[in-house]
Amino acid sequence: MELNDYRNFFFDLDRTLWDWDSTLIGAEDLVYTLNDTGRNVYFHTDNTLLSRKAYAEKLTSMGIPAEESQVLTSGFVAAEILAKTNTQEVYAVGEQGLVEEIGLKDIQISEEASKAVVGFDRNFNYDKLSRLKEIVEEDGKIYTCSTEKVFKRRADSRPHQGAFNSAIKHFGDVGNVGKPSQAFRDVFDDYFDYFPGKSLFIGDRFADIEIGNELGMDTAAVLSGQITEEKLKKAEDEQVPDYVLTGLHKLRRRII
Ligand SMILES: [Mg+2]
Repeated sequence: MELNDYRNFFFDLDRTLWDWDSTLIGAEDLVYTLNDTGRNVYFHTDNTLLSRKAYAEKLTSMGIPAEESQVLTSGFVAAEILAKTNTQEVYAVGEQGLVEEIGLKDIQISEEASKAVVGFDRNFNYDKLSRLKEIVEEDGKIYTCSTEKVFKRRADSRPHQGAFNSAIKHFGDVGNVGKPSQAFRDVFDDYFDYFPGKSLFIGDRFADIEIGNELGMDTAAVLSGQITEEKLKKAEDEQVPDYVLTGLHKLRRRII
């Protein structure tokens, strides 16, 4: 299959399309070309800072037109899992994007809940960790929304939620609903209407490549984030992409 043959393009956001505050080279042009040639474009992220709606607005404001229905976040995945398991209340550790998605399912947010969802929270603190410790020790369920280590804003490289996950795991088991989890894959499958054989899944992390491969799509790694040529040599079978791109502009040239 040639890159030109794909009809559906599923883009990761952080370090694939943007460094949060600015798009990466070629991103707007590529999405413009895909839209202009009748392809379907979708976005996925396990960064829970924003809701699907807010991501669509942010993308649009940065020159990449998007509707809420084209965006999937792990905050939405977490909310779906809670709703499917008839959860009435949950302790949510995260920012507006996570809180909004949980609220849309009419699930109450309470510190007393025996279940917790942990997203990326730049106000993570000792009290929150203490409550999560109690929930783990009382055999409550904790879902984390990402295993991402680095949050990149332009040249600024800061911790993502991975380090906080480690602090919680110090006290017991947690489940991940971000990439490449089964939960994320199941919700992805229900959420998007697509045919895997004509779809390309694009991301900067091995978690992206793994989930794209498991969903039965072809995968492309962009070398603008976690994946490097060096790391690719040691990748597990399920983490090997079909294509390796130094940047998104390389993709655009091959789909016109
Ligand atoms: Mg990424």
